[in-house]
Amino acid sequence: MVQFLNSRRAFLKSASYKITMLTLGSGVLPVLAAEAEPLLDPLPESILAEEPLIKPKPLVQKKLGIALVGLGGYSGGQLAPALQETEHCYLAGIVTGTPQKAIDWKAKYNIPTGNIYDYNNFDEISKNQDIDIVYVVLPNALHADFVVRAAKAGKHVICEKPMAVTVEDCDRMIAACEEAGKMLSIGYRLHFEPYNREMMRLGQKEIFGKIKTIEAYDGMGDTNGWRLDKKLAGGGPLMDVGIYCVQACRYTTGMEPIAVTAIEGIKKKPEKYKDVEESLSWTLEFPGGIIANCKTSYTQDMNLLRMNAEKGWAQLSPAYPYRGQAGETSEGKMDFPSVNQQARQMDDFAMAIMEGRPTPVPGQMGRQDVKILQAIYKAMETKQRVEIK
Ligand code: NAD
Repeated sequence: MVQFLNSRRAFLKSASYKITMLTLGSGVLPVLAAEAEPLLDPLPESILAEEPLIKPKPLVQKKLGIALVGLGGYSGGQLAPALQETEHCYLAGIVTGTPQKAIDWKAKYNIPTGNIYDYNNFDEISKNQDIDIVYVVLPNALHADFVVRAAKAGKHVICEKPMAVTVEDCDRMIAACEEAGKMLSIGYRLHFEPYNREMMRLGQKEIFGKIKTIEAYDGMGDTNGWRLDKKLAGGGPLMDVGIYCVQACRYTTGMEPIAVTAIEGIKKKPEKYKDVEESLSWTLEFPGGIIANCKTSYTQDMNLLRMNAEKGWAQLSPAYPYRGQAGETSEGKMDFPSVNQQARQMDDFAMAIMEGRPTPVPGQMGRQDVKILQAIYKAMETKQRVEIK
């Protein structure tokens, strides 16, 4: 187990504050959630490493090989570039249904022919010693089958959010990884991002007293393709970006929601969004009377996480992008370094495998989110308050 060296210097009284934190290990983060378990107090005093004092010693001294499954926008735009910066893992292979992408990626990232698969011969990856981790970056409804196939092939797995479109699929994925003795994590990059980690600390440690309310909004101006198809996406913006609000409420409070009410927004583009919601507002109730008001949309840009507590407040705006987070509290501005979230996320998973410790973003966390998303949809459809058990 990695140890943390605590040295937190918080200058909360100044108009502008900066928290310097030192850890042993790079981007090594705490386990946050097991299903229905209170998340309280998982944070060590120190959260971030500006510069690790001592490099961790993995049990296995090698970089783990990652194969990306699905070479779309996120793989090409974020994950492959991040894998050029990772210390403990590297881009070893690809799985694609498009022959031209195989040619382009092979040339761009120097991927051996033997490490390139398509969706049909993917199971042969079991024989490939270069690949330790399979990272599933496909449309949401395809996650489950590929995670199960990857586990059966004897690989550790990272699966993109949302983990799946049903809780039953999540159970299948978790069971397959358990049976194979392999680790499963979800691509929750914000658990490795300093501003969001600060919200976890401020909220879970009740630095401003007990939380009263939360506002979490995440929406974007437009979308296209499979995200409009309920069969592939599982729903609309709630599945795609609203999930970040659910995550934010959980990690800011360190608690699990107990009930939800929800209202679908009126569609501005009913033809385009005929299959999925265009926008949605929902309210999560947490233990202790905490109320979280959340919004998501495919036709409105929004990006906020705000916590109002007994003795102060904190907010991030924007809260959820790949970079450029900004934050403020009732005591002053936050000032944290910009990090490559995806590189940290993947390095942490590689380290977790090599150290034999749990990932802080496990399959159970993804399953709990899918359960909450389904409760939100049920509340939207029935117009009733739905308890989350
Ligand atoms: P995308 O549409 O850009 O790419 C999807 C890829 O899947 C494409 O390469 C496509 O060819 C392939 N594919 C295989 N079978 C398909 C099918 N039947 N229909 C459509 N495409 C098919 O999508 P994306 O933005 O890369 O998203 C992929 C996954 O990553 C989603 O689950 C999404 O939620 C997730 N994602 C996560 C983040 C994040 O910040 N963590 C950001 C973006 C996307």
